[in-house]
Amino acid sequence: MTYLFDLPTPSVAVQGTDARFPVRRIFCVGRNYEDHAKEFGNNPKDPPFFFTKPADAVIESGAKLPFPVATENLHFEAELVVAIGTDGSAINRDTALDHVFGYAAGNDLTRRDLQAQAKETRRPWDMAKGFDNSAVIGAITPIADWNRDTARITCTLEGEVKQDADIADMTWPVPDIIAYLSRLVHLRAGDLIMTGTPAGVGQIRPGQVCTVKIEGLAEATVTLG
Ligand code: MN
Repeated sequence: MTYLFDLPTPSVAVQGTDARFPVRRIFCVGRNYEDHAKEFGNNPKDPPFFFTKPADAVIESGAKLPFPVATENLHFEAELVVAIGTDGSAINRDTALDHVFGYAAGNDLTRRDLQAQAKETRRPWDMAKGFDNSAVIGAITPIADWNRDTARITCTLEGEVKQDADIADMTWPVPDIIAYLSRLVHLRAGDLIMTGTPAGVGQIRPGQVCTVKIEGLAEATVTLG
């Protein structure tokens, strides 16, 4: 019999150590690159909005997964991921980075067909975004070793570069995201924030390998069955 206290805590590797970063919640920024916002006909100057994935949607780089159920249009989204190390609410942007434990590369896997239906019917995005194994997260690099506001971000599918941008192009940089989000929830150690994807999102088909890279960070690779 399994008791509640036997349930494992989802966690992510910390680059260069045996330590694990325990995942509390996963927040995601809806739109944060002008070109990607335009790609879907949205106004890039809107304030950031957020959705969530369950903590146990986390999958580590290198995973081989069964192809997700209930979709015929699975999309990749390359994203910079922020790992929160220190609690805080109503955080100001100039002290926001004091709350960051580190950074990772991530892939916000999306059932785009379900998202399109949800948008059309004005229903929630949960089943489009928060499904099993939907958050591929590379090992986290502590902020002492990597703290950049400019770095190339790419997504490669079967060896072909599909997304190629710079995190400097984010409409809302990390300190602003933390300032906004911490006025909506009390941020806690263990929270991950996926900071939005640049233009060029597209479909992953069964059997394909997809890799997100951010200069200086460990990659986030997934193989889908
Ligand atoms: Mn995304």
